[in-house]
Amino acid sequence: EELHIQEILEPLIEQHKLKADKPVRISVDINPDGMTVLADRTHFSNILSNLIDNAIKYSHEKAEIDIHCRTVRTGTNEQAEISVTDQGIGIALEKQRHIFDKFYRVPTGNLHDVKGYGLGLFYVKTMTERHGGSVSVKSETGKGSTFTIKI
Ligand code: ATP
Ligand code: MG
Repeated sequence: EELHIQEILEPLIEQHKLKADKPVRISVDINPDGMTVLADRTHFSNILSNLIDNAIKYSHEKAEIDIHCRTVRTGTNEQAEISVTDQGIGIALEKQRHIFDKFYRVPTGNLHDVKGYGLGLFYVKTMTERHGGSVSVKSETGKGSTFTIKI
């Protein structure tokens, strides 16, 4: 199904802001305007939802999030590249290779009352790959994280 990224993102962002227990600012930059992706609607919005959820959860008393969407060429086909950047607690380099594993949660450094099952990123990885895509992370402890999906 051809999905307009903007149309999917807008209500998701509203939902997350409403249920958040802290102030949340999310900026969205989509280039080109009106970008679309070929994906299953439910899975695609769950993928974005999980990334936004984490960006909020693993930020301190205020969440500052930037979402960027671009098209990139990979060989002969075009992919959408969507990145979600936060300025939260970050993830130590040696932990980064585990975070996509089922049930894995960073044992130390998580904010005190942050709950979860360690399933969100496993789902993100499984579903992006099922769509012929990929997910990657760049992060630094204390500075924040960027999760990027290509789909
Ligand atoms: P769930 O998503 O199942 O509710 P969860 O958020 O703990 O639980 P994942 O989304 O799979 O699980 O994330 C795995 C772990 O990676 C998290 O427990 C956290 O330690 C770390 N993590 C994920 N996203 C971020 C982020 N944006 N900033 C800092 N740490 C993160
Ligand atoms: Mg999560």
